Amino acid sequence: MTLKRKDYLSWDEYFMGVAYLAGMRSKDPNTQVGACIVSEENKILSIGYNGFPIGCSDDIFPWARDGENSLETKYLYTTHSELNAILNYPGGSLKGAKMYVTLFPCNECAKAIIQAGIKEVIYDSDKYGDTPAVIASKKMFDAANVKFTRYERSGRSIEFEL
Ligand SMILES: [Zn+2]
Repeated sequence: MTLKRKDYLSWDEYFMGVAYLAGMRSKDPNTQVGACIVSEENKILSIGYNGFPIGCSDDIFPWARDGENSLETKYLYTTHSELNAILNYPGGSLKGAKMYVTLFPCNECAKAIIQAGIKEVIYDSDKYGDTPAVIASKKMFDAANVKFTRYERSGRSIEFEL
């Protein structure tokens, strides 16, 4: 009898891998974040990465982080991966879904996650954990019973030619 492969990806590796792959689509020169929304049955429902809204060209809108004029920085224009993943979902409700995201969600995305009915966030990096935005996210997640779990890296690395 032939037994199944033993080195297949775990669900967590698979979904976090998809989130990282989505982040590679971002044109932001400084920050690439990806998010993958998954149903309770482990089916991928939606994917997103950080970028400008449809019609707002990456060649015209600014990617700068600093500038005297806020209209010339990216912050007023970018949509984060988590909100994009929520907005990209063509189906109905995301109630009860989980979100895998490469970076802990900011307060604005946390509001959208809560309102969408997402029940768990699995994140990798928490490098802005000391900032008010992320502290506010955690306060809101706790109040709204959204579980947040740090992704446990398996140590596996994958390389393939495209
Ligand atoms: Zn955000």
